[in-house]
Amino acid sequence: MPGSSALPADLPAAAADGTRTLADTYGRVARDLRVSLTDRCNLRCTYCMPAEGLDWLPTEQTLDDDETIRLLAIAVEKLGIRQIRFTGGEPLLRKSLEKIIAAAKGLRTDEGRAPQLAMTTNGMGLARRVHALKDAGLDRVNISLDTVDPELYARLTRRDRVTDAIAAIDAAVAAGLSPVKVNAVIMPGINDHSIGDLARFCLERGAQLRFIEQMPLGPPSQWKRAEMITAQDILDALAEEFELSPVDKPRGSAPAALWNVTDGTRSGEVGVIASVSHPFCGDCDRTRLTTDGAIRSCLFSAAGDEVSLRELLRSGASDDEIGALWAAAMWRKKPGHGIDDPGFLQPDRPMSAIGG
Ligand code: SAM
Ligand code: SF4
Repeated sequence: MPGSSALPADLPAAAADGTRTLADTYGRVARDLRVSLTDRCNLRCTYCMPAEGLDWLPTEQTLDDDETIRLLAIAVEKLGIRQIRFTGGEPLLRKSLEKIIAAAKGLRTDEGRAPQLAMTTNGMGLARRVHALKDAGLDRVNISLDTVDPELYARLTRRDRVTDAIAAIDAAVAAGLSPVKVNAVIMPGINDHSIGDLARFCLERGAQLRFIEQMPLGPPSQWKRAEMITAQDILDALAEEFELSPVDKPRGSAPAALWNVTDGTRSGEVGVIASVSHPFCGDCDRTRLTTDGAIRSCLFSAAGDEVSLRELLRSGASDDEIGALWAAAMWRKKPGHGIDDPGFLQPDRPMSAIGG
């Protein structure tokens, strides 16, 4: 129902001060907002984008800075969001990123604190901006690096820029944006031999590696359920080179299962995100805002499940009206992504336009 303003009859009413939570009918409450700041990117990772890129969204359809900041304020101050992750596309391509981060840091959550601010980035150009971003209020970063091998990185991202990605990780560690996390998507026959190298690279730097199971969100030819590298495959590969033991703390809504890893000299934590083989939808506390102003209650929402806030925002609606439509979009959130259901359909929007 993109753009519809019909609210479900069973949607819980707002409190007298207009505040609501982003609850759904399965008892989950969204506290973590993923905001896509652009659908554009300067890399072309094979599992995410075709070589020629995609049809970028026209500027008039995307939210400008004021619109973005207003929706962040509604999310944090009226809807119970406590953590924001900026993503894309490549969020560093948004020139006003520091301004948006500073505005978000000035908000106050329902607990009276500034929201936690994180970013997922490919790191291109981060080394130059890391201090400005930290000063603006950025708390943490995840930097994507699927291999440390320069030739393989160039093939995987179709750009010869592994040095920039490594410089970004080093700069983020030096700036104290800790814990610095490194995201690695593992694909069969492509970088599954890089698992140990990536773990060693992160242990040496004190960065936390996050292995991510590849999901059906990029070019359809790039993902086959029967051939994908699962979390168990990743753990088996790690166990050949490292001692592993589960981290002994409650996981809560975190997508990664955490493992203590040591090579006898260095120790650290590695996370494995088993979105496909062991979905964690029952504990999901996330909601997503696309760069063109649509709410996606799930990464895998179908086009028909998206709710656009943009027209309401541009029609002079009040914060409470916008908050009510956002709450309605979350109220209808499905119980899970259904990747293993026989009728599963890959979302029309690519990952870069949803916000990973
Ligand atoms: N451009 C930034 C980056 O690469 O970090 C942010 C956007 S990217 C879509 C966010 C994360 O999604 C990255 O860590 C990327 O590796 C991951 N990703 C992209 N396509 C994916 C897929 N098909 N399956 C699993 N993860 C994917
Ligand atoms: Fe760009 Fe990130 Fe997609 Fe790679 S994964 S093409 S860096 S948006």
